[in-house]
Amino acid sequence: MDPSALEPKTLGNIHWDTDARTATIGVLSTQNYQLPYQAMLDDMEFTIVHELVHLHLASLPRSDASRRVEEHAVNELAKALLSLAKR
Ligand SMILES: [Zn+2]
Repeated sequence: MDPSALEPKTLGNIHWDTDARTATIGVLSTQNYQLPYQAMLDDMEFTIVHELVHLHLASLPRSDASRRVEEHAVNELAKALLSLAKR
């Protein structure tokens, strides 16, 4: 995914359709990463898990005020899930 298709300072995104029960996750293209190979893969994995956690929370109410708090919670959950998966 081209950086211009992403919000500033983000590495991925997700769009879901609750009625159709579908979702599409986008991640930054490998061509636009400035990290070594393994670090890039780890970062992409984190981004995908992060977006999947957002998907689990899709039915929660969302506002500008809650967005920052949700991002923090989603990051912490993604970190915890990945550390459990890698034990
Ligand atoms: Zn997020």
